[in-house]
Amino acid sequence: AKNEGRNTFRFFTPKINQQVQTRNLVQKYLRHAIFQNELYMVYQPFIDLKSGCVVGAEALMRWSNPELGQVRPDQFIPIAEETGLIVELGAWSLDRACSEVAQWQELYDYSLWVAVNLSPRQFRESNFINEIWATVKRYHLSSHCLELEITERLLMEDIPDAKELIEQLHNYQIRLAIDDFGTGYSSLSTLKRYPFQVLKIDRSFIAEIPEDPEAVSLVKTILGMAQGLGLKSVAEGIETAEQQAFLQSLGCDYGQGYYFSKPLTAEKFRDYLKRYSAS
Ligand code: C2E
Ligand code: CA
Ligand code: CA
Ligand code: CA
Repeated sequence: AKNEGRNTFRFFTPKINQQVQTRNLVQKYLRHAIFQNELYMVYQPFIDLKSGCVVGAEALMRWSNPELGQVRPDQFIPIAEETGLIVELGAWSLDRACSEVAQWQELYDYSLWVAVNLSPRQFRESNFINEIWATVKRYHLSSHCLELEITERLLMEDIPDAKELIEQLHNYQIRLAIDDFGTGYSSLSTLKRYPFQVLKIDRSFIAEIPEDPEAVSLVKTILGMAQGLGLKSVAEGIETAEQQAFLQSLGCDYGQGYYFSKPLTAEKFRDYLKRYSAS
């Protein structure tokens, strides 16, 4: 057995070893992140491409740990999903996002919505819908000011009652967005089967327009589909004026991306809104 151990060990390159170590550390510290106040939300505005006004924001999670520094969501969300910690983190992020958007609405009398990302794992919690609804009520938010972003992955995973749960959210008038559209396997029939109101076109397509003719025709097709099904469209990852103008000309409803703004801390986002509501 000892020999076997040695042999196996040879297969670990230093790089893999380092990855395993980082993983373990992330897992270890993430357990205490909420309690230690290490998490916060940042907000990236959605812009109405016709009027140029801010209409809402996507809430994105950030984690700053004293040992690990700033950890990117794609480094800790997957680990949180595997360990089940995402249930707690997800509840925390929803609560924080609802509380912050409710404050801004009151402060500026400005009706904007907040979009919160959901992980498939959260759908498996029995109390999931009740908790969402309790959070909305806690901050006296109108339910149409909350949007939940769901990826195609969720719909592909075999979650019992996913359709019923999504319909319940719809009955509460909470808006549902399909995120990263075009990267998964979902089709027209998926869109038709679930009560989505919003379709978010994945950044990878937006990055290639207007130069790449294939990306252009894909984006056109997706926008045509959205329009045909009565869904609002959001283009994510807009980085240039050219992309913005092009998407606007194609009738895309909303835009999000560094061209308008990077994700902002709650404080910065409040100032950003202040400038908007003043002008
Ligand atoms: P996503 O939902 O697709 O979020 C959009 C990501 O694109 C964000 O990265 C955002 O900062 C980035 N982005 C926005 N505009 C641009 C742009 O113009 N150019 C480029 N290159 N990037 C842009 P972020 O914040 O690092 O989040 C990464 C992913 O982590 C998210 O992808 C989402 O899947 C996940 N995530 C973040 N926060 C949460 C959360 O609270 N809950 C869950 N379940 N997942 C989250
Ligand atoms: Ca998202
Ligand atoms: Ca996305
Ligand atoms: Ca994405």
